[in-house]
Amino acid sequence: MMPPVFRFAPSPNGALHLGHAYSALLNLDRARESGGRFLLRIEDIDATRCRPEFETAIYEDLAWLGIAWENPVRRQSEHLADYRAALDKLSALGLVYPAFESRAEIARLVAVREAGGPWPRDPDGAPLYPGNAKSLSAGERTRLIASGTPYALRLDMAAACGRVGGLTWNELGEGPNEERGTVPAHPEAWGDVILARKETPTSYHLSVVVDDALQGVSEVVRGQDLFHATSVHRLLQELLGRPAPTYRHHKLIRDEAGRKLAKSSRSTGLRDLRAAGATPASIRRLVGLD
Ligand code: GLU
Repeated sequence: MMPPVFRFAPSPNGALHLGHAYSALLNLDRARESGGRFLLRIEDIDATRCRPEFETAIYEDLAWLGIAWENPVRRQSEHLADYRAALDKLSALGLVYPAFESRAEIARLVAVREAGGPWPRDPDGAPLYPGNAKSLSAGERTRLIASGTPYALRLDMAAACGRVGGLTWNELGEGPNEERGTVPAHPEAWGDVILARKETPTSYHLSVVVDDALQGVSEVVRGQDLFHATSVHRLLQELLGRPAPTYRHHKLIRDEAGRKLAKSSRSTGLRDLRAAGATPASIRRLVGLD
């Protein structure tokens, strides 16, 4: 039997806080108790927000917490060809189309739609894609691309869902409404999600699915804020013929006011806690992992 594989996958776009420590330590504990492997993955596809100094700080903070990971670390920015190959596969299935609206144009279209009644929002609260790029003719697409108009590549969600049966996943933790066990996936709730942007030739959803499969991740341990995203991940796994890991979504660490922690918050940042005298053991106690 292959040992189980776990991963902690932070984005280097800010400083790690108690919530990250909890997620990383839970992964580590699960790996230790199951004789599994612990991998670290740097999710740095967003070049506008990720910075090398945050990445260096991630290594330092995790080492300070007593976490050891396997080398080499997978840095997503070094594997764009892998995501491109997955995108090509989805394109070959006829499930991808270019959408040319700018962010401002999308906001305007949503406002127009909302003037006529409620417009659906995805589980994160963002309006679903309101455009009609899916029905542009091949000639119109070619003309826009040739003219240099920037575009994003979107998943044709209706066609994608039509290719697969009802999807589920195995939830070992729990969702925001205590969902656990065999959970039905509802990718349609996300609409035509973006798979790649002009400036970033992949997306969070696509890279996470490709990497979890390539790295043989068998149990994904991550925060409940990504519970609903799992529906999109299951769909992409199915379309790409990749295996489904099991999922363990964990509670989020909140501040005294009950708010989700922000990367900029000083009171819960690992650096600041450490400077104020915290120890790895006291961090474990703070997040309830005695
Ligand atoms: N990179 C994501 C984050 O920092 C986590 C991705 C995942 O665990 O699936 O929120």
